[in-house]
Amino acid sequence: MAQDKAETGDLQKWLSEIGAGLDTFLAFKHPDAMTDHDQWHDYLNMPLPEKGVGIEAVTADLVNHIIPFGSAIPRPGFTGYITTGSTSASTLASTAASIASPQRYGHNAFNFLEALSLEWLANLFGIGHLQGVYSSGGSVANLVALGGARQSAFEKVGIDPAMQGVSRPVSLYASAECHHTIQRSAGVLGVGRQSVKLIACDDQGRMRVDLLEKAILDDLAAGVMPMAIVANAGTTNTGAIDPLQAMGLLAQKYDIWYHIDGAYGLPGILDEAVKPLYQGLEMADSVIVDPHKWLGASVGIAATFVRDRQVLLRAFTQEPADYLEGSVAHSAQSEPTIVHSMDDFGIPYFDFGVELSAPARGVAVWAMIREIGAEGLRARVKRHNGMARTLSTLAHAHPRLAVVSEPTLSICCFRYVRDGIADLDAFNQQLCRLLVRENKLLPSTTRVNGVLAIRPCYVGARAETDQVAALVTAVVRIGDALFETSHTMS
Ligand SMILES: *Cc1c(COP(=O)(O)O)cnc(C)c1O
Repeated sequence: MAQDKAETGDLQKWLSEIGAGLDTFLAFKHPDAMTDHDQWHDYLNMPLPEKGVGIEAVTADLVNHIIPFGSAIPRPGFTGYITTGSTSASTLASTAASIASPQRYGHNAFNFLEALSLEWLANLFGIGHLQGVYSSGGSVANLVALGGARQSAFEKVGIDPAMQGVSRPVSLYASAECHHTIQRSAGVLGVGRQSVKLIACDDQGRMRVDLLEKAILDDLAAGVMPMAIVANAGTTNTGAIDPLQAMGLLAQKYDIWYHIDGAYGLPGILDEAVKPLYQGLEMADSVIVDPHKWLGASVGIAATFVRDRQVLLRAFTQEPADYLEGSVAHSAQSEPTIVHSMDDFGIPYFDFGVELSAPARGVAVWAMIREIGAEGLRARVKRHNGMARTLSTLAHAHPRLAVVSEPTLSICCFRYVRDGIADLDAFNQQLCRLLVRENKLLPSTTRVNGVLAIRPCYVGARAETDQVAALVTAVVRIGDALFETSHTMS
């Protein structure tokens, strides 16, 4: 018996109980958590316990009072935002890592997969010449990439911004449709949110390159230093892909760091039908992707790729510290002889970003790719893109539906339209809310070119193709009923 009560072992027993609970959850026979709100909330909402109940009771709580009241996000019909449930292989791998390799440093099989899976991802997406580092999500991945951009821009004028701070105005050029973590990154990096110049898009949500060049020239004339051009390979709103090639050429022409945010859409390159839109990707100085979106990893896994990780090292190094004995061995001239897994830290990922302690994430990415191969991922991306296109076709064909934005990737924005509806935006907002409350098909809404639309985004491995026709039927049914009610009332 271990001295610490928390060291129970017996994982086979406890994991099998949790596994059974999760299998029941994944049958999705349960109502939404809010339907039973009082039941779980009142049970769980207890004061700090002085005495513990032991692992058996904790496991029972998980199975009976927590798992059944989990999130709607893993449902097959959940298509809101850009998020999804993790696949089984990813869950198993993350769980294994949490026990057998709790950190991504040191030499062991998990941490070998940290490097290998980054290589696999890079090769999968045709950016095998870039070097990667994992972080917790697209937000941090963008921050890390733009940290590289800041370092590079200031070093060109003889300043080390990581050491000296930033001392002159810069500009980051991103489209008006860029993810707002670009502005936040600029804020955190000390160059200021206002340094992000939002370039207008065409009516398809793609950056206007003519306006980009004009903005660069205006800044150069005013003595403002360009720091980065940020392109979207799949905007969060509609999945639009910026003109990557034309933007890359401008980045080359003016010697500006070229960042491509592919948090959602980089895997789109696996679909031959849209692959040509990714021409120019090879010009990027940095690219990010979120394996926890389209690839189905458990949340907390993004990757930043750059040409040379040394720039990230200069941007983010913690400097040697006595308490990190071994942290510098790797960079010493003579390669240390590795006899024990803790002889040195291995690849110093903790100096290429903003996290020191971090889980070994690569094993989850490795598991997903090893499970179904590039072929399986390609099939998924194609299936999802096909679903968005089918939805567009069905919506075009229906007299009371209108397509608001044509799909590029796996998002299709559409809405219910009919003569006699005074406020189409409010009507569709309410329609979508009623739809979600049925707890089967759960898209979200957005605004595209000033218009509110229903926005399914197909990224979940559980999404089935017949959901598309079902969504059209449901939206028409609910829209018709809502129209009748509002017109009998008035
Ligand atoms: C989702 C998303 C992000 C942010 O990623 P998180 O993993 O949610 O932090 C950044 N950029 C784009 C284009 C995204 O779609």
